[in-house]
Amino acid sequence: MVESDCIFCKIASGSIPCNRIYEDDSVLAFLDIGPVSVGHTLVIPKQHFETMADCPAEVLAAVASVLGRIAMAVSTATGSDGYNVLCNNGRAAGQLVNHMHFHVIPRMINDGIFNRWPSFEYASGQAEEIAAKIRAKL
Ligand code: 5GP
Ligand code: ZN
Repeated sequence: MVESDCIFCKIASGSIPCNRIYEDDSVLAFLDIGPVSVGHTLVIPKQHFETMADCPAEVLAAVASVLGRIAMAVSTATGSDGYNVLCNNGRAAGQLVNHMHFHVIPRMINDGIFNRWPSFEYASGQAEEIAAKIRAKL
């Protein structure tokens, strides 16, 4: 599937250039044009799927099967202390490009990008309740 107005489909088809990191039949990795840190890489399925939930298991598996290797290369090449692998799904989660992708973001100790996100404690019974609701949706 190629979405005619999707920037990542255009990159996958070669009609828009990118700094390519990795490519196989179903997966492409390239540098993010607006990096959080040097070496920030995007890993995408070549086929257009909007979110992880839309992405068939075999396509997700193809992406996942190379994600660790790409992350290792990004981290080693940039000399990073660590890296984040992020997949934003939906506007509320920060997804701007509606073609499912994983960010690989090299991180250094005390780089000031972000450390911990806000967390809270469940009220009594709340965790069991939401866990049961989620299980029921599987
Ligand atoms: P999202 O917020 O959807 O998770 O991330 C989309 C990412 O795609 C952003 O980090 C943005 O910098 C990157 N991006 C958007 N347009 C282009 C483009 O044309 N080329 C490349 N290489 N990256 C892009
Ligand atoms: Zn697309």
